[in-house]
Amino acid sequence: MNRIIIVLAVFIGLAANLSAKQSDIQKVKSASENWRSQQGLVILNDFRDLLSMPNVASNLQDMAKNADWIESYIAKRGFKFQRLEAGGAPYIYAELNQPGASKTVLIYAHFDGQPVNLSNWSSSPWQPQLRDNLVEAGGKDVSWPTAANQIKEHWRLFARSSGDDKAPVIALMAAIDALKSEGINRSVNIKLILDGEEEAGSPTLEKLLDKYAELLKADLMLFCDGPMHQSRQRQLVFGVRGTIGLNLTTYGPSRPLHSGHYGNWAPNAAEQMIAALDSIHDENGRIAIQDYYLDVRQMTEEEKRAISVMPEMDAQLKKDLVIAESRLKDTRVEEAIMQPAAVITGVEVGSTRDKARNVLVPQAHASINFRLVANQQPTKVRQLVENHFRQQGYYVINELASEKVRSQHSKVLSLMWEKSGYPAFRSSLESAEAIKLSNILSHLEGDKPLMTPTMGGSLPIYLFEKALNIPIIILPVANHDNNQHGPNENLRIKNLWEAIDVYAAVLAEFGK
Ligand SMILES: [Zn+2]
Repeated sequence: MNRIIIVLAVFIGLAANLSAKQSDIQKVKSASENWRSQQGLVILNDFRDLLSMPNVASNLQDMAKNADWIESYIAKRGFKFQRLEAGGAPYIYAELNQPGASKTVLIYAHFDGQPVNLSNWSSSPWQPQLRDNLVEAGGKDVSWPTAANQIKEHWRLFARSSGDDKAPVIALMAAIDALKSEGINRSVNIKLILDGEEEAGSPTLEKLLDKYAELLKADLMLFCDGPMHQSRQRQLVFGVRGTIGLNLTTYGPSRPLHSGHYGNWAPNAAEQMIAALDSIHDENGRIAIQDYYLDVRQMTEEEKRAISVMPEMDAQLKKDLVIAESRLKDTRVEEAIMQPAAVITGVEVGSTRDKARNVLVPQAHASINFRLVANQQPTKVRQLVENHFRQQGYYVINELASEKVRSQHSKVLSLMWEKSGYPAFRSSLESAEAIKLSNILSHLEGDKPLMTPTMGGSLPIYLFEKALNIPIIILPVANHDNNQHGPNENLRIKNLWEAIDVYAAVLAEFGK
């Protein structure tokens, strides 16, 4: 009898706790909605100002301007900040404490963007333009609104870094303002780390983390970058792929030769390159390099289950992208990105079409982007790839070949590795922090978020994992069709608005 009463009491207590949480989160949601309906235009104007500043990491002057702007923007909300530099573009560290809060959340975003090819953009990447749809879908320009109630959720704001990754700065500050406007306390202390060189591979991050790891200590790190799921459902992401780039060169004769006189006599750089590249995959699209899969971490049961309940996007993606079959047959995209990829990203040799000439050319060049998955190490990948080409009969060197080398070896392959490679990151779907975040998002949006074991893009998360040893979860807010890294990058207004709701809910509830 007693036991029944206790069980009942616990059950009623739990239920009361859950519904209290539900009503608390609904309060947060309405605070966020009210704030947007009053201040939406101010938020959008602020976003436009931030996006108007060019932000390629190699231009330190531009990056300093961006950092100045962000520092004054966050200082208005009471953040204490300092600029961290180790010879590259700046990082901003900032904190905002909450009296009484015992938990601290460290939030990462980056404010640099990919370089642009201006001729491919429909409007200047640094002059934010609203449109009512994607450019490819016939989106029309919309004139800038003059009041919050004119803003439409389906509009998109086009500018470099609108989707990747300046929105979190704006949305997070709006979330803080929204909570304050209705007297809702934050439940956590906030730490921010804003990266000014992510698109350049965050080359100085390791140095900074060596020095400032203590400063960044927190109970949870939220990585606010990357796209949402293709179904537009909210997702928490627990991993990213690693990356390492390789440039290859093969050799023919020392000068261009007439293809009639020498075509089947002199070695051909183009044919050598094609053979080298062709050896990388088998006919099923798997990497055919010996032992390449030995280190690859197998999917856990929980990861398999999480993928099996995600909406199947393959058919739609194939239709959109005009693709007959996926590279790994019968493997849905979410599973494919749990496997390593070797992507030939470019080949340069001779001339084609109206510029085709009947010559054998002296050199061919190609680039490969290796996308790594959990447990693969860049140094080991490098070793396996070089061994592979040796097994194929190539004389492998890590510089351009001298005349002496070319005169002594019939198959010379220069492999030049990019220095900025890094390993993948993957964390547990079942940590207490993951469950708590999932519950907060469920209460906020009515649906459980997707628990995505990994996303395809690469972020330098492994450095934070190594330096901080705290749970790290990726919380993307951008639409999947944001054209990140490409021309006509954009963010849907609805994604910006919902990002404010999400940040407000996490700030108000995670520490409870
Ligand atoms: Zn990004």
